[in-house]
Amino acid sequence: MTPAAAADPARHTAPSATVKSLRTRLRDPRLRPVVEKVAEGRRLLREDGRLLYETTDLHAVCGLADLVRRRLHGDLAFYNVNRHINYSNVCALRCSFCAFRRRRDEEGAYEMDIPRIVEEAVRSADAGATELHIVGGLHPYLPFDHYLGMLRAIREAAPQVHLKAFTAVEIVHLQRVSKRGREGEAGLRAVLEDLRAAGLGSLPGGGAEVFDDRVHDAAFKGKIRAEQWLEVHRVAHEIGLNSNATMLYGHVETREDRLTHLEVLRREQDRTLAGWAAAQGIARDGDAVVLTGPAERHPRARLPHPGAAGLDGGYFQTIIPLPFFPDGSDLGHLPGPSGLENLRTLAICRLMLDNVPHVKSFWIMQTLPMAQLQLAAGADDLDGTVVWYDITHVGGASTHQEVGVDDLRRAAREGGFIPVERDTIYRRVERFGPTGRDWRSIEPTAS
Ligand code: SF4
Repeated sequence: MTPAAAADPARHTAPSATVKSLRTRLRDPRLRPVVEKVAEGRRLLREDGRLLYETTDLHAVCGLADLVRRRLHGDLAFYNVNRHINYSNVCALRCSFCAFRRRRDEEGAYEMDIPRIVEEAVRSADAGATELHIVGGLHPYLPFDHYLGMLRAIREAAPQVHLKAFTAVEIVHLQRVSKRGREGEAGLRAVLEDLRAAGLGSLPGGGAEVFDDRVHDAAFKGKIRAEQWLEVHRVAHEIGLNSNATMLYGHVETREDRLTHLEVLRREQDRTLAGWAAAQGIARDGDAVVLTGPAERHPRARLPHPGAAGLDGGYFQTIIPLPFFPDGSDLGHLPGPSGLENLRTLAICRLMLDNVPHVKSFWIMQTLPMAQLQLAAGADDLDGTVVWYDITHVGGASTHQEVGVDDLRRAAREGGFIPVERDTIYRRVERFGPTGRDWRSIEPTAS
Protein backbone atom coordinates (compact mmCIF):
# COMPACT_ATOMS: atom_id res chain seq x y z
CA MET A 1 0.00 0.00 0.00
CA THR A 2 1.23 3.50 -0.79
CA PRO A 3 1.45 6.07 1.99
CA ALA A 4 -1.32 8.03 0.28
CA ALA A 5 -3.63 5.04 0.38
CA ALA A 6 -2.75 4.46 4.02
CA ALA A 7 -3.83 8.01 4.80
CA ASP A 8 -7.20 7.46 3.16
CA PRO A 9 -8.99 4.45 4.64
CA ALA A 10 -11.92 4.76 2.25
CA ARG A 11 -9.64 3.81 -0.65
CA HIS A 12 -9.00 0.30 0.54
CA THR A 13 -12.28 -0.89 2.01
CA ALA A 14 -15.30 -2.54 0.48
CA PRO A 15 -18.01 -2.00 3.11
CA SER A 16 -20.96 -2.81 0.85
CA ALA A 17 -19.66 -6.38 0.40
CA THR A 18 -19.47 -6.68 4.18
CA VAL A 19 -23.04 -5.51 4.67
CA LYS A 20 -24.19 -8.09 2.13
CA SER A 21 -22.36 -10.92 3.85
CA LEU A 22 -23.67 -9.80 7.25
CA ARG A 23 -27.23 -9.92 5.96
CA THR A 24 -26.70 -13.38 4.48
CA ARG A 25 -25.03 -14.95 7.48
CA LEU A 26 -27.26 -13.54 10.20
CA ARG A 27 -28.27 -16.30 12.64
CA ASP A 28 -30.49 -14.16 14.86
CA PRO A 29 -33.31 -12.54 12.83
CA ARG A 30 -33.91 -10.02 15.61
CA LEU A 31 -30.66 -8.35 14.55
CA ARG A 32 -31.96 -7.49 11.05
CA PRO A 33 -33.11 -3.94 11.94
CA VAL A 34 -29.76 -3.31 13.65
CA VAL A 35 -27.88 -4.42 10.53
CA GLU A 36 -29.98 -2.08 8.38
CA LYS A 37 -29.36 0.85 10.72
CA VAL A 38 -25.62 0.27 10.64
CA ALA A 39 -25.71 -0.20 6.86
CA GLU A 40 -27.42 3.19 6.48
CA GLY A 41 -25.33 4.94 9.14
CA ARG A 42 -28.22 5.57 11.53
CA ARG A 43 -27.74 5.86 15.26
CA LEU A 44 -28.37 2.76 17.39
CA LEU A 45 -30.74 3.14 20.32
CA ARG A 46 -30.59 1.61 23.79
CA GLU A 47 -32.84 -1.30 22.77
CA ASP A 48 -30.41 -2.05 19.93
CA GLY A 49 -27.54 -2.10 22.41
CA ARG A 50 -29.56 -4.40 24.68
CA LEU A 51 -30.11 -6.79 21.77
CA LEU A 52 -26.41 -6.75 20.89
CA TYR A 53 -25.73 -7.89 24.45
CA GLU A 54 -28.52 -10.52 24.47
CA THR A 55 -27.98 -12.22 21.13
CA THR A 56 -26.01 -15.45 20.86
CA ASP A 57 -24.88 -14.39 17.38
CA LEU A 58 -21.61 -12.89 18.58
CA HIS A 59 -20.16 -13.22 15.07
CA ALA A 60 -22.76 -10.75 13.81
CA VAL A 61 -22.05 -8.31 16.65
CA CYS A 62 -18.30 -8.41 15.93
CA GLY A 63 -18.92 -8.28 12.16
CA LEU A 64 -21.03 -5.13 12.50
CA ALA A 65 -18.38 -3.48 14.64
CA ASP A 66 -15.73 -4.48 12.11
CA LEU A 67 -17.76 -2.92 9.31
CA VAL A 68 -17.92 0.37 11.18
CA ARG A 69 -14.25 0.22 12.12
CA ARG A 70 -13.26 -0.32 8.47
CA ARG A 71 -15.40 2.59 7.33
CA LEU A 72 -13.46 4.82 9.71
CA HIS A 73 -9.95 3.41 9.49
CA GLY A 74 -9.81 0.85 6.69
CA ASP A 75 -7.38 -1.88 7.63
CA LEU A 76 -5.05 0.37 9.60
CA ALA A 77 -4.17 -0.64 13.16
CA PHE A 78 -2.68 2.16 15.27
CA TYR A 79 -0.14 1.85 18.06
CA ASN A 80 2.17 4.27 19.81
CA VAL A 81 5.50 4.21 21.59
CA ASN A 82 4.80 5.41 25.09
CA ARG A 83 5.78 5.07 28.72
CA HIS A 84 3.56 5.12 31.78
CA ILE A 85 4.74 6.91 34.89
CA ASN A 86 2.64 6.20 37.97
CA TYR A 87 4.26 8.86 40.16
CA SER A 88 2.74 7.64 43.45
CA ASN A 89 0.31 5.00 44.68
CA VAL A 90 -0.50 6.94 47.85
CA CYS A 91 -4.20 7.74 47.71
CA ALA A 92 -6.68 9.37 50.06
CA LEU A 93 -9.49 7.20 48.68
CA ARG A 94 -10.18 3.49 48.86
CA CYS A 95 -12.13 2.38 45.80
CA SER A 96 -13.13 -1.24 46.26
CA PHE A 97 -12.02 -2.32 42.77
CA CYS A 98 -8.53 -0.80 43.19
CA ALA A 99 -5.45 -2.94 43.93
CA PHE A 100 -3.06 -0.03 43.33
CA ARG A 101 -3.63 2.43 46.17
CA ARG A 102 -1.80 2.46 49.51
CA ARG A 103 -1.92 4.59 52.61
CA ARG A 104 1.29 6.57 53.03
CA ASP A 105 2.44 4.43 55.99
CA GLU A 106 1.43 1.13 54.38
CA GLU A 107 3.88 -1.41 53.03
CA GLY A 108 4.37 -0.97 49.30
CA ALA A 109 3.55 2.76 49.32
CA TYR A 110 5.83 4.84 47.10
CA GLU A 111 6.33 8.39 45.80
CA MET A 112 8.65 9.23 42.93
CA ASP A 113 10.39 12.56 43.42
CA ILE A 114 10.73 14.97 40.50
CA PRO A 115 14.38 14.14 39.64
CA ARG A 116 13.45 10.46 39.42
CA ILE A 117 10.44 11.24 37.22
CA VAL A 118 12.60 13.42 34.95
CA GLU A 119 15.20 10.66 34.75
CA GLU A 120 12.50 8.24 33.63
CA ALA A 121 11.15 10.76 31.12
CA VAL A 122 14.59 11.34 29.58
CA ARG A 123 15.28 7.62 29.39
CA SER A 124 11.92 7.17 27.64
CA ALA A 125 12.57 10.00 25.19
CA ASP A 126 16.02 8.58 24.42
CA ALA A 127 14.35 5.25 23.66
CA GLY A 128 12.05 6.95 21.13
CA ALA A 129 8.87 7.37 23.19
CA THR A 130 6.46 9.95 21.79
CA GLU A 131 4.20 10.05 24.85
CA LEU A 132 4.34 9.91 28.62
CA HIS A 133 1.15 8.79 30.32
CA ILE A 134 1.33 10.17 33.86
CA VAL A 135 -1.21 9.25 36.54
CA GLY A 136 -1.20 8.42 40.23
CA GLY A 137 -3.28 8.27 43.40
CA LEU A 138 -4.88 11.26 45.10
CA HIS A 139 -1.91 12.14 47.27
CA PRO A 140 -3.12 13.85 50.44
CA TYR A 141 -0.02 16.00 51.09
CA LEU A 142 1.60 17.06 47.80
CA PRO A 143 0.84 20.71 46.90
CA PHE A 144 -0.42 21.87 43.50
CA ASP A 145 2.93 23.50 42.73
CA HIS A 146 4.55 20.06 42.93
CA TYR A 147 2.52 18.90 39.93
CA LEU A 148 3.26 22.09 37.97
CA GLY A 149 6.94 21.64 38.79
CA MET A 150 6.81 18.03 37.64
CA LEU A 151 5.35 18.96 34.24
CA ARG A 152 7.74 21.88 33.75
CA ALA A 153 10.77 19.78 34.62
CA ILE A 154 9.76 17.03 32.18
CA ARG A 155 8.96 19.56 29.48
CA GLU A 156 12.39 21.12 29.85
CA ALA A 157 14.26 17.81 29.86
CA ALA A 158 12.22 16.06 27.15
CA PRO A 159 10.55 18.80 25.10
CA GLN A 160 9.31 16.66 22.21
CA VAL A 161 7.40 14.11 24.26
CA HIS A 162 3.64 14.63 24.63
CA LEU A 163 2.45 14.73 28.24
CA LYS A 164 -0.88 12.97 28.69
CA ALA A 165 -1.49 13.33 32.38
CA PHE A 166 -3.97 13.24 35.27
CA THR A 167 -7.39 11.63 35.18
CA ALA A 168 -10.44 13.78 35.84
CA VAL A 169 -10.41 12.52 39.44
CA GLU A 170 -6.85 13.79 39.89
CA ILE A 171 -7.72 17.12 38.25
CA VAL A 172 -10.55 17.66 40.77
CA HIS A 173 -8.13 16.70 43.55
CA LEU A 174 -5.58 19.21 42.21
CA GLN A 175 -8.28 21.87 42.13
CA ARG A 176 -8.96 21.14 45.81
CA VAL A 177 -5.31 21.26 46.88
CA SER A 178 -4.48 24.31 44.76
CA LYS A 179 -5.77 26.45 47.67
CA ARG A 180 -6.10 29.47 45.46
CA GLY A 181 -9.69 30.21 46.36
CA ARG A 182 -10.90 29.15 42.95
CA GLU A 183 -14.07 27.14 43.02
CA GLY A 184 -16.53 25.78 40.46
CA GLU A 185 -15.98 25.81 36.74
CA ALA A 186 -13.84 28.96 36.80
CA GLY A 187 -11.45 27.29 39.25
CA LEU A 188 -11.36 24.14 37.18
CA ARG A 189 -10.55 26.13 34.06
CA ALA A 190 -7.79 28.02 35.85
CA VAL A 191 -6.23 24.79 37.14
CA LEU A 192 -6.34 23.18 33.70
CA GLU A 193 -4.88 26.30 32.11
CA ASP A 194 -2.04 26.32 34.66
CA LEU A 195 -1.34 22.66 33.92
CA ARG A 196 -1.44 23.26 30.18
CA ALA A 197 0.98 26.19 30.52
CA ALA A 198 3.30 23.87 32.46
CA GLY A 199 3.28 21.28 29.67
CA LEU A 200 0.05 19.23 29.85
CA GLY A 201 -0.87 18.07 26.32
CA SER A 202 -4.04 16.02 26.84
CA LEU A 203 -6.07 14.11 29.42
CA PRO A 204 -6.23 10.32 29.69
CA GLY A 205 -9.65 8.72 30.06
CA GLY A 206 -9.39 7.09 33.47
CA GLY A 207 -11.64 7.51 36.47
CA ALA A 208 -14.89 7.34 34.52
CA GLU A 209 -15.56 3.74 35.68
CA VAL A 210 -19.32 3.43 35.05
CA PHE A 211 -21.63 6.45 35.12
CA ASP A 212 -24.24 5.25 37.58
CA ASP A 213 -24.87 6.42 41.16
CA ARG A 214 -25.62 2.93 42.51
CA VAL A 215 -22.41 1.53 41.03
CA HIS A 216 -20.51 4.60 42.22
CA ASP A 217 -21.67 4.14 45.81
CA ALA A 218 -21.00 0.39 45.77
CA ALA A 219 -17.55 0.37 44.15
CA PHE A 220 -15.89 3.79 44.28
CA LYS A 221 -17.71 5.94 46.80
CA GLY A 222 -15.75 9.11 47.47
CA LYS A 223 -14.63 9.43 43.87
CA ILE A 224 -16.19 12.15 41.74
CA ARG A 225 -19.55 11.40 40.15
CA ALA A 226 -20.35 11.38 36.44
CA GLU A 227 -21.31 15.08 36.26
CA GLN A 228 -17.97 16.19 37.67
CA TRP A 229 -15.97 13.79 35.47
CA LEU A 230 -17.81 15.14 32.42
CA GLU A 231 -17.31 18.73 33.53
CA VAL A 232 -13.52 18.24 33.74
CA HIS A 233 -13.41 16.84 30.22
CA ARG A 234 -15.79 19.50 28.89
CA VAL A 235 -13.61 22.31 30.23
CA ALA A 236 -10.47 20.55 28.96
CA HIS A 237 -12.06 20.34 25.51
CA GLU A 238 -13.06 24.00 25.68
CA ILE A 239 -9.47 25.09 26.30
CA GLY A 240 -8.25 22.94 23.41
CA LEU A 241 -7.11 19.72 25.05
CA ASN A 242 -8.14 16.37 23.59
CA SER A 243 -9.05 13.55 25.94
CA ASN A 244 -10.08 9.91 26.08
CA ALA A 245 -12.81 8.07 27.97
CA THR A 246 -12.70 4.69 29.69
CA MET A 247 -15.37 2.30 30.90
CA LEU A 248 -14.31 -0.08 33.68
CA TYR A 249 -16.74 -2.99 33.50
CA GLY A 250 -17.24 -6.50 34.87
CA HIS A 251 -17.60 -5.70 38.59
CA VAL A 252 -20.84 -4.62 40.29
CA GLU A 253 -22.42 -2.89 37.30
CA THR A 254 -24.99 -4.41 34.93
CA ARG A 255 -24.98 -4.42 31.15
CA GLU A 256 -27.73 -1.77 31.30
CA ASP A 257 -25.37 0.43 33.32
CA ARG A 258 -22.75 0.07 30.60
CA LEU A 259 -25.26 1.18 27.97
CA THR A 260 -26.12 4.19 30.12
CA HIS A 261 -22.41 5.02 30.35
CA LEU A 262 -22.02 4.89 26.57
CA GLU A 263 -25.14 7.00 26.02
CA VAL A 264 -23.87 9.67 28.42
CA LEU A 265 -20.52 9.85 26.62
CA ARG A 266 -22.22 9.92 23.23
CA ARG A 267 -24.45 12.82 24.27
CA GLU A 268 -21.48 14.80 25.51
CA GLN A 269 -19.56 14.20 22.30
CA ASP A 270 -22.60 15.23 20.21
CA ARG A 271 -22.56 18.55 22.00
CA THR A 272 -18.80 18.94 21.55
CA LEU A 273 -18.77 18.16 17.83
CA ALA A 274 -22.04 19.88 16.83
CA GLY A 275 -20.44 22.96 15.25
CA TRP A 276 -17.77 21.02 13.39
CA ALA A 277 -20.31 18.45 12.12
CA ALA A 278 -22.57 21.19 10.79
CA ALA A 279 -19.59 22.74 8.94
CA GLN A 280 -18.82 19.34 7.40
CA GLY A 281 -22.38 18.75 6.24
CA ILE A 282 -22.48 15.44 8.07
CA ALA A 283 -25.94 13.91 7.91
CA ARG A 284 -27.58 14.14 11.31
CA ASP A 285 -30.44 12.35 13.09
CA GLY A 286 -31.78 15.20 15.19
CA ASP A 287 -28.80 16.29 17.29
CA ALA A 288 -26.84 13.10 16.63
CA VAL A 289 -23.40 13.43 15.07
CA VAL A 290 -22.85 10.04 13.48
CA LEU A 291 -19.35 9.54 12.04
CA THR A 292 -19.69 5.86 11.25
CA GLY A 293 -22.05 5.89 8.27
CA PRO A 294 -21.23 4.79 4.71
CA ALA A 295 -18.95 7.01 2.62
CA GLU A 296 -21.81 8.75 0.78
CA ARG A 297 -23.06 10.26 4.05
CA HIS A 298 -19.72 11.98 4.60
CA PRO A 299 -19.12 14.39 1.72
CA ARG A 300 -16.25 16.05 3.60
CA ALA A 301 -14.08 14.99 6.56
CA ARG A 302 -15.45 12.08 8.53
CA LEU A 303 -13.05 12.36 11.46
CA PRO A 304 -12.20 15.54 13.32
CA HIS A 305 -8.62 16.42 14.08
CA PRO A 306 -7.20 19.19 16.25
CA GLY A 307 -7.52 22.54 14.58
CA ALA A 308 -10.10 21.33 12.04
CA ALA A 309 -12.33 24.05 10.62
CA GLY A 310 -15.36 24.59 12.83
CA LEU A 311 -13.74 22.86 15.78
CA ASP A 312 -12.64 25.37 18.38
CA GLY A 313 -11.46 22.93 21.04
CA GLY A 314 -10.75 19.33 21.85
CA TYR A 315 -12.98 16.26 21.93
CA PHE A 316 -13.08 12.63 23.03
CA GLN A 317 -10.80 10.89 20.58
CA THR A 318 -10.88 7.33 21.99
CA ILE A 319 -13.10 5.03 24.04
CA ILE A 320 -11.17 2.44 26.05
CA PRO A 321 -13.21 -0.41 27.54
CA LEU A 322 -11.30 -1.79 30.54
CA PRO A 323 -12.17 -5.22 31.94
CA PHE A 324 -12.09 -5.38 35.74
CA PHE A 325 -9.36 -7.52 37.34
CA PRO A 326 -10.45 -8.69 40.81
CA ASP A 327 -7.01 -9.79 42.09
CA GLY A 328 -5.81 -7.78 45.06
CA SER A 329 -8.93 -5.57 45.22
CA ASP A 330 -11.72 -5.51 47.82
CA LEU A 331 -13.90 -7.15 45.13
CA GLY A 332 -11.57 -10.14 44.83
CA HIS A 333 -14.50 -12.53 45.26
CA LEU A 334 -15.95 -11.51 41.88
CA PRO A 335 -14.99 -13.52 38.80
CA GLY A 336 -14.31 -10.60 36.45
CA PRO A 337 -15.54 -10.58 32.84
CA SER A 338 -14.95 -13.52 30.48
CA GLY A 339 -13.08 -13.33 27.16
CA LEU A 340 -16.32 -13.42 25.19
CA GLU A 341 -17.76 -10.63 27.33
CA ASN A 342 -14.64 -8.56 26.62
CA LEU A 343 -14.98 -9.15 22.89
CA ARG A 344 -18.69 -8.32 22.89
CA THR A 345 -18.35 -5.23 25.07
CA LEU A 346 -15.64 -3.74 22.90
CA ALA A 347 -17.72 -4.39 19.76
CA ILE A 348 -20.73 -2.73 21.38
CA CYS A 349 -18.60 0.28 22.34
CA ARG A 350 -17.68 0.66 18.66
CA LEU A 351 -21.28 0.39 17.54
CA MET A 352 -22.91 2.62 20.18
CA LEU A 353 -20.23 5.32 20.26
CA ASP A 354 -20.77 6.36 16.66
CA ASN A 355 -19.24 9.80 17.24
CA VAL A 356 -15.94 8.81 18.87
CA PRO A 357 -13.24 8.21 16.24
CA HIS A 358 -11.16 5.52 17.93
CA VAL A 359 -11.64 2.38 20.03
CA LYS A 360 -8.61 1.15 21.93
CA SER A 361 -7.96 -2.39 22.96
CA PHE A 362 -5.66 -1.70 25.90
CA TRP A 363 -3.52 -4.83 25.71
CA ILE A 364 -2.25 -4.52 29.29
CA MET A 365 -5.73 -5.23 30.60
CA GLN A 366 -7.14 -7.16 27.65
CA THR A 367 -3.91 -9.18 27.05
CA LEU A 368 -2.18 -8.98 23.67
CA PRO A 369 -3.89 -12.09 22.17
CA MET A 370 -7.31 -10.65 23.06
CA ALA A 371 -6.31 -7.24 21.71
CA GLN A 372 -5.33 -8.94 18.46
CA LEU A 373 -8.79 -10.55 18.23
CA GLN A 374 -10.47 -7.26 19.03
CA LEU A 375 -8.85 -5.61 16.01
CA ALA A 376 -11.42 -7.58 14.01
CA ALA A 377 -14.26 -6.66 16.38
CA GLY A 378 -14.16 -2.87 16.34
CA ALA A 379 -10.78 -1.88 17.81
CA ASP A 380 -8.40 0.19 15.68
CA ASP A 381 -5.78 0.97 18.33
CA LEU A 382 -3.53 -1.28 20.42
CA ASP A 383 -2.10 1.44 22.69
CA GLY A 384 1.64 1.31 23.13
CA THR A 385 4.81 -0.31 24.25
CA VAL A 386 3.85 0.39 27.86
CA VAL A 387 6.52 0.11 30.54
CA TRP A 388 5.95 0.22 34.29
CA TYR A 389 2.23 -0.10 34.43
CA ASP A 390 1.36 -0.29 38.10
CA ILE A 391 -2.38 0.25 38.07
CA THR A 392 -3.31 -3.31 37.19
CA HIS A 393 -1.14 -6.37 37.56
CA VAL A 394 -2.54 -8.94 35.21
CA GLY A 395 -2.55 -12.28 37.00
CA GLY A 396 -0.36 -10.80 39.73
CA ALA A 397 2.49 -10.31 37.25
CA SER A 398 5.42 -7.97 37.79
CA THR A 399 4.81 -4.27 37.32
CA HIS A 400 7.29 -4.18 34.44
CA GLN A 401 5.09 -4.84 31.46
CA GLU A 402 6.29 -4.16 27.96
CA VAL A 403 5.86 -5.38 24.45
CA GLY A 404 8.18 -4.26 21.69
CA VAL A 405 7.13 -2.40 18.58
CA ASP A 406 7.78 -5.62 16.65
CA ASP A 407 5.28 -7.51 18.84
CA LEU A 408 2.56 -4.93 18.25
CA ARG A 409 3.23 -4.76 14.52
CA ARG A 410 3.21 -8.55 14.24
CA ALA A 411 -0.07 -8.77 16.18
CA ALA A 412 -1.64 -6.36 13.69
CA ARG A 413 -0.17 -8.00 10.58
CA GLU A 414 -1.21 -11.50 11.63
CA GLY A 415 -4.80 -10.24 11.70
CA GLY A 416 -4.50 -8.78 8.19
CA PHE A 417 -4.10 -5.19 9.37
CA ILE A 418 -1.49 -2.58 8.50
CA PRO A 419 0.31 -1.31 11.60
CA VAL A 420 0.69 2.47 11.77
CA GLU A 421 2.55 4.30 14.51
CA ARG A 422 0.60 7.31 15.74
CA ASP A 423 1.26 10.11 18.19
CA THR A 424 -1.08 10.94 21.08
CA ILE A 425 -3.52 12.89 18.92
CA TYR A 426 -3.49 10.29 16.11
CA ARG A 427 -1.13 11.97 13.68
CA ARG A 428 1.09 9.47 11.90
CA VAL A 429 4.63 9.22 13.20
CA GLU A 430 7.55 9.08 10.83
CA ARG A 431 10.82 7.62 12.15
CA PHE A 432 14.18 8.66 10.76
CA GLY A 433 17.88 8.63 11.62
CA PRO A 434 20.23 5.69 12.08
CA THR A 435 18.57 4.27 15.22
CA GLY A 436 14.92 5.00 14.50
CA ARG A 437 14.65 6.88 17.78
CA ASP A 438 14.17 10.23 16.04
CA TRP A 439 10.65 10.98 14.94
CA ARG A 440 8.25 13.61 13.69
CA SER A 441 4.46 13.79 13.47
CA ILE A 442 2.76 14.16 10.11
CA GLU A 443 -0.35 16.32 10.02
CA PRO A 444 -3.46 14.26 9.31
CA THR A 445 -5.19 14.53 5.98
CA ALA A 446 -8.96 14.82 6.03
CA SER A 447 -10.56 11.42 6.44
S1 SF4 B 1 -8.95 4.02 41.78
FE1 SF4 B 1 -7.72 5.91 41.93
S2 SF4 B 1 -8.87 7.19 43.38
FE2 SF4 B 1 -9.62 5.07 43.68
S3 SF4 B 1 -8.34 4.23 45.32
FE3 SF4 B 1 -7.35 3.66 43.38
S4 SF4 B 1 -5.85 5.28 43.02
FE4 SF4 B 1 -7.29 6.07 44.56
